[in-house]
Amino acid sequence: MAEQVFQPLPTVPDHPALEREILAWWEEHGTFDRLREQNRGGPTFSFMDGPITANNPAGVHHGHGRTLKDVFQRYKAMQGFDERYQNGFDSQGLWVEVEVEKELGLGSKREIEEYGLAKFARKCVERVAYYSEVMTEQCRRLGQWMDWDNDYYTFSDTNIEYIWGFLKTVQERGWLYKGHRSTQWCPRCGTSLSQHEQAGEENYVEMEHPSLFVRFPLAGRDGEALVVWTTTPWTLPANVAAAVKPDADYGLTADGRWLAVARFPDEAFTRTAKGEELVGLEYSGPFDELAAQEGVTHRVIPWDEVSLDEGTGIVHIAPGAGAEDFELSKVHGLPVLAPIDEAGRMLPAYGGFAGMTTGEVAEPVTRALRERGVLVGEGTILHRYPICWRCKTPLVFRVVDDWFISADEIRQPMLDANDTVAWTPAQYKKRMDDWLRNMGDWNISRKRYFGLPLPFYPCECGHLNVIGSRRELAERAVSGMDQLEELHRPWIDAVRIRCAQCDRELERIPEVGDAWLDAGIVHFSTLGWKNPEWVPHGYATGASAGVSGADLPDHAYWEKWYPADWVSEMREQIRLWFYSQCFMAVTLTGVSPYRSVLTYEKVFDEHGRPMHKSSGNAIELNEALDLMGADVMRWLYCAQTPSEPLRFGYQLADDVKRRFLTFWNSVKFFVEYANVEGFSPSWGALHLEGDLASLDRWLVERTHAFVHDGEAAYDAFDTVTVMRAYQAFVEDLSNWYIRRSRPRFWQEGGDQAAFQTLWYALVQALRVMAPIMPFVTEHLWRELVLDGPESVHLSGWPDVEVPDRALLEEIEGVRRVVTLAHQARASAGLSLRQPLRRLVVEGGAPVAAHADEIASEVNVKNVEFGVVEAELRVKPHLPALGPRLGRELPAVRQALQAGEFEELPGGRFRAAGHELEPDEVLVERLGHEGFAVASADGVTVALDTTLDEELVLEGRVRDLIRQVNTMRKEQGLELTDRVVLTVPAELEPLLRWEEHIKNEVLAVEIRVDGDADLSIAKA
Ligand SMILES: [Zn+2]
Ligand SMILES: [Zn+2]
Repeated sequence: MAEQVFQPLPTVPDHPALEREILAWWEEHGTFDRLREQNRGGPTFSFMDGPITANNPAGVHHGHGRTLKDVFQRYKAMQGFDERYQNGFDSQGLWVEVEVEKELGLGSKREIEEYGLAKFARKCVERVAYYSEVMTEQCRRLGQWMDWDNDYYTFSDTNIEYIWGFLKTVQERGWLYKGHRSTQWCPRCGTSLSQHEQAGEENYVEMEHPSLFVRFPLAGRDGEALVVWTTTPWTLPANVAAAVKPDADYGLTADGRWLAVARFPDEAFTRTAKGEELVGLEYSGPFDELAAQEGVTHRVIPWDEVSLDEGTGIVHIAPGAGAEDFELSKVHGLPVLAPIDEAGRMLPAYGGFAGMTTGEVAEPVTRALRERGVLVGEGTILHRYPICWRCKTPLVFRVVDDWFISADEIRQPMLDANDTVAWTPAQYKKRMDDWLRNMGDWNISRKRYFGLPLPFYPCECGHLNVIGSRRELAERAVSGMDQLEELHRPWIDAVRIRCAQCDRELERIPEVGDAWLDAGIVHFSTLGWKNPEWVPHGYATGASAGVSGADLPDHAYWEKWYPADWVSEMREQIRLWFYSQCFMAVTLTGVSPYRSVLTYEKVFDEHGRPMHKSSGNAIELNEALDLMGADVMRWLYCAQTPSEPLRFGYQLADDVKRRFLTFWNSVKFFVEYANVEGFSPSWGALHLEGDLASLDRWLVERTHAFVHDGEAAYDAFDTVTVMRAYQAFVEDLSNWYIRRSRPRFWQEGGDQAAFQTLWYALVQALRVMAPIMPFVTEHLWRELVLDGPESVHLSGWPDVEVPDRALLEEIEGVRRVVTLAHQARASAGLSLRQPLRRLVVEGGAPVAAHADEIASEVNVKNVEFGVVEAELRVKPHLPALGPRLGRELPAVRQALQAGEFEELPGGRFRAAGHELEPDEVLVERLGHEGFAVASADGVTVALDTTLDEELVLEGRVRDLIRQVNTMRKEQGLELTDRVVLTVPAELEPLLRWEEHIKNEVLAVEIRVDGDADLSIAKA
């Protein structure tokens, strides 16, 4: 045997072990740095990473996004693009605060303040620093190539200053205002939350709440009362009005209850009236004795939006505890009673209820109503209720002051900007448009601690001072600059400035900013917008000093890299990051910050259920990396349609591993025979030359088609199509080329052209798949490429000719005939090892030139091209056709049954005036006696199933060969080992084929031995 050129491959790859080896090898050889060096100065492909919250270890859903980012950056790098690989960490705001509160066992804002804001801020930084390292390690393990020491952190002073600059611009445009509004409020976090944060489906849960029907006695109408319905008893002490629908009918029952007639059609009403007739009536509220209710006159108001689908058709109005209620108070001049403080507890003016939470107060309120005799009915209701996106506490409404950026003037420019963006999948562009059309003003203030300090200094004189930079702060400060360690609370709060208009000394408002300002500004803060000079480590300021190593580039750099060519995040980011970055960029530059977007849905478990720790179906990223390996995970992430929830789990991973074996085995096959024959490929021979056998020429063209299809799919940010193209290619490679070429590899001396062609196809396929499966492709590259680029990732994208599609279609036609012949054979119950006399082929592409190939593939003596005599039966496929045809169906069914139909090209039919698509009919072809028939896509084949003695004998020879080769494997013989075969006397007739049998099983001799068992012995 020749010297082994290639390392033998194991039967199956151990993905995790192989990946750890490759990681170490990349590290040792500086492969990533060399890639960047190789592409430096090339055309640019600008990617902007959306910051990931560095708060906990990453989950498998993070792995999804991280994989997609890495796949396309690797692909573009193979194409020679110079790229930015800066990773971002989202590092301040509620995300971090809530985790640190848990860590420190703090339960409320008061406790945070007692703990101390400075210490709390430091703890937040510590947590971010720790988890950013954990996540970095996880992402490296996943194979993501990023510039890991150069990460940006949104808590950097530089990032904060850039947002300040943005806010100053917003104020100059007249868009910034303080709003007095009813807003969704988290009593645990003690802050209002914005529309865009709360809009997700996951922020609503089914909850059980009390359902109360309460009488509001009408003033001056003895015994008459309005009946209202509520599911929030805590709001009743703040009631000031009751709303009716003016044009609806209301009725009075014999016992004095006013109700909407439409809601209670079975009630016997003694009187009815239009809603408008009730408007203006006064009534006694349920808790008029409370201090809060002093001076309040309760009255009936009109409201067109009163629902007649639930409740009583009369709505209890508490403007201090509901958004619509608050809006109504402005229209009707109603008093606004705010019943709860920021922790959601009833205020002192609410007497015996004071100090209770909105939940706790339900029971005493209900009891009081019962005692007063105004409770008409009580029960519970299960309904969808909003919870805090961050801490899952049920939300309430509070009327508070918040800071807003008006969306009116930016809306159209943002829609115009979105029009320039290429979205993948395309339908998400419309989702973004919908969001932009409906977005309300941006609520940017949060009543919290470790976040972007809003640089607002309002003055009694009416002037709102907005600071745009740290330098401006220093210029205008009158005190506190000396202790300003970083631009966070509490330090920033101690700085006082002078009012630009009246010289009064001013304090900053206590609010911090929405975290989406932090993430939205990164196209400016990380790229050095308007920064005159490059500052080494200039981004690593404030809290990020010592955590980040990032530079602050200069404006020329920003010009080079802005806008991003591509961003990619989950679909929910439409209302979050895609929105905030677009808002900020359009404000500052008038154009979209990204040219194209890839977005994708959530990760579900393999049964299609959302993953939750509490359901026990969540998978940790580390666990998946350890058990499946990164390549298998990346395959799962890349193979599934991004507009649908992605399924992820161990069974799916096993399936991927199994499917990957086809390619692995193809390489293994090559390696084994190349070692036997001493075939040694050279990189220079990558461009195949000379006349190739037709099968070799086909594989070369087939490989080129794969390269081209892969490239087109990557260019469209479509990994699903890359994966499909790969699987089709591997199927052709393994089940057509290798299977049909096998003898050429094991013949004496080997067929050099076959080795060369197979090597070529394998190596090019590795390059196409390298972005998706970076580890195993690298491993196999190092196995197969002996003198070329040492890493597949440094090898560039394959430069190949346009494939000969006509040739490929011809072979596809051949394979279609073969597949049909196999189907026909299976329907007749005949094994493929049983030779048959002939196959008749009708229709389809011209494949006559391949008659011999077809004959050998389908194991027949002759292939003829002509008319197949068969009876065609067509039936309606009811699930598809029924809904479309409706009442026309019986006529079509009858026509088909009577054979009154016309066959159209492409597998379509016409019957009773209707054209039927291939998937709307069930087609059966019945061959004549002695024929098995199959047909699809306009091709029909008939297999002559008649057996004679000769054919039966040949079939038995094939069975014998298969049996012996199985024995060779079972006995662990090498591919080249020769054997002596012993057969029982009953098989002696088969020895008419002795030479053939010897060749096929590498036998040097065949002995016949009476009634001995079939056996082999190494010769
Ligand atoms: Zn909360
Ligand atoms: Zn002033």
